[in-house]
Amino acid sequence: MNNPLRNLPSVNELLESPVLKALVNRVSHNVVVNRARSLLDDLRHEIQARAEIRVPSVAELAERIASRVLAADEPALRPVINATGILLHTGLGRAPLAEAAVSALAEAAANYASVELDLPSGERSQRVAAVRSLWQELTGAEAVAVVNNCAGATLITLAALAQGREVIVSRGQLIEIGGSFRLPEVMAASGAVLREVGTTNKTRLADYEQAICDRTAALLLVHPSNYVVAGFTESVELRPLVELGRKHRLPVIHDVGSGALIDLAQFGLHGEPLPAQSLRHGADLVLFSGDKLLGGPQCGVILGRAALVGQIAKHPLARALRVDKLTLAALAATLRLYRDPAVACRSIPLLQLLSTPLQNLQLRAERLAAQIAAMPTVASAQAVQDTAYLGGGSVPTQQLATWCVAIEPQDGGVDRLAARLRTGTPAIVGRIRDGRLLLDLRSVFPRQDQELVNALERLHPSPQRQPTPDSNPPSA
Ligand SMILES: *Cc1c(COP(=O)(O)O)cnc(C)c1O
Repeated sequence: MNNPLRNLPSVNELLESPVLKALVNRVSHNVVVNRARSLLDDLRHEIQARAEIRVPSVAELAERIASRVLAADEPALRPVINATGILLHTGLGRAPLAEAAVSALAEAAANYASVELDLPSGERSQRVAAVRSLWQELTGAEAVAVVNNCAGATLITLAALAQGREVIVSRGQLIEIGGSFRLPEVMAASGAVLREVGTTNKTRLADYEQAICDRTAALLLVHPSNYVVAGFTESVELRPLVELGRKHRLPVIHDVGSGALIDLAQFGLHGEPLPAQSLRHGADLVLFSGDKLLGGPQCGVILGRAALVGQIAKHPLARALRVDKLTLAALAATLRLYRDPAVACRSIPLLQLLSTPLQNLQLRAERLAAQIAAMPTVASAQAVQDTAYLGGGSVPTQQLATWCVAIEPQDGGVDRLAARLRTGTPAIVGRIRDGRLLLDLRSVFPRQDQELVNALERLHPSPQRQPTPDSNPPSA
């Protein structure tokens, strides 16, 4: 009787194969040995379950081990060329950082840093000192706190100022952002009690005033970043709400969502609140994200009155939500660029993309389309004008004019083309419309144009259409 278990090679025999010998030069010996053992174990179980199995050759097994080792070596988090046209795509990590922020982050990462040490005095300091004076200079804020993200900023602000008491919010502003940030749920988690006023489309100052009672802790105004209520609508602006707050000695909290530090009207985007303006109009606290229109690292920024910020900084959640030295370094470097708005526009990637003239995008799209149309895997490639969006919960209704390359693959399998580009290196994510893959250049950096061409060039005709003994070769 031929026992297939006896035909299994040993780990050492496998390691002697040319494929694994080459692999051991690149990957740790232990990693390869562990993979080889686990593959042999799997095979042994299979053989015991069904005795008639064919034992693969040493060369075949070595190939399988090598591909498992290499697959596990690929990081799951990979750089992406964002050709979706959504500039602040939360699924793609929102804003890329400016070079200055990247260097500051790398330097802080590789070294110890004065995170909570005041170097001149040798005394303990607060980590917010890394960015405090920059925020004060850029926005006129009295005090600053920085936490993990804007959801965290909302959570800690409400927990510190309104636990067990009521916060009045317009029903039209009970937002959900990105599926997981739902204001009523964040508020519940903070221990504050939501007091909704008005209706979905109309809320008047009198609605807030009537809801004020001895349980009221604050008035909250939320910028509805990702939707608009259109038609017969009415909402209360910040300034009258601030007056009402003053009259009743209640703090007014303004969640502006994206902290634009410069007026984006120059790029055709209107209506995005500026934190500095909100403070000037009397908001007691202003909350926003660092990785939206600011173009910095993920964080949540709280600006406003020293007494309130002090209460927030002392809350136990401050420790749970605090940012690390990497965030502080990247944020400070980003803010330094804003000291000269012209420098910020030139060097912050998000602002570069936003400010690219339409004609520039058109020229690039036309050039790329001509190159891509000539490829054998492509049936057609055209430059088309379209609409891009900021995304990330910012200015949803405001559209950005853009140009795309619209690609129709030779075999008509546009989903397959999209999947192959997504899983390539670099990964490329576009959007599919009407049987074509659109690569939107509004969110692509010019330095990445050639990578788009290279990636498409690497795609061979699909295996289904490749010549096989019983089918004709495709007429490419
Ligand atoms: C985006 C946004 C948030 C959530 O911000 P994160 O930084 O994603 O936590 C909260 N409020 C508003 C108004 C927003 O636009």
